[in-house]
Amino acid sequence: ANRPPAKLNLLTCQVKLNPDEKKSFDLFSHDRTYHFQAEEEAECQIWISVLQNSKEEALNDAFKGDQDRGENNIVQELTKAIVSEVKRMSGNDVCCDCEAPKPTWLSTNLGVLICIECSGIHREMGVHYSRIQSLTLDVLGTADLLLAKNVGNVGFNEIMEADLSAQGVTKPNPSSDMQTRKDYITAKYTEKKFVQRKCADAESRLHVLCEAVKTQNILSLIQVYAEGEDLMETIPLANEHVR
Ligand SMILES: [Zn+2]
Repeated sequence: ANRPPAKLNLLTCQVKLNPDEKKSFDLFSHDRTYHFQAEEEAECQIWISVLQNSKEEALNDAFKGDQDRGENNIVQELTKAIVSEVKRMSGNDVCCDCEAPKPTWLSTNLGVLICIECSGIHREMGVHYSRIQSLTLDVLGTADLLLAKNVGNVGFNEIMEADLSAQGVTKPNPSSDMQTRKDYITAKYTEKKFVQRKCADAESRLHVLCEAVKTQNILSLIQVYAEGEDLMETIPLANEHVR
């Protein structure tokens, strides 16, 4: 007979990688242990990450009531106002990667909103690619929202997915499986495969970079980043280019 699916409160559960089997993980609830088997090790990591994100979100919701009475009220109000503005920005109503509605996870260093499933893969790529935080966490500082406020899903994807249709690639959708998402997100963010190269060489990239800084053009900055410019490097011969 079909039994109804078990419902668990993640707040009282622990998720752990099974030390004996790399492709499996355990979910410990107060009265029993659920053993999960993934197809692949990578998929297993993603599931763990998604469950941990969900737990974090649930934990935060649980504490929310108390935080509102704190003395940082003004900063929190400001943060909330920026968050709701960010959510209303064009394209931010759907996940930047799979277009799932109402994404609540922010990549603070890329300035885009993503859904919980895709956020697991962003986490897996590492913070040097994407720094994931929940929009529902009040610990978000206004500095964390700076890129979100100035970039957004539309502007970002106009650069990072510029060549998508020319390459005949279809984006994942909200019901895509983890592997499909992972392949796409890896190609988009680490290989930067769907970017249209606009600079002929390193020299012209450097020129565009300097112009972007001078004119405070964030999207132009993302374009040179997407074309492989390391934004953490100091600019050589800066005096020659920045006048
Ligand atoms: Zn997504």
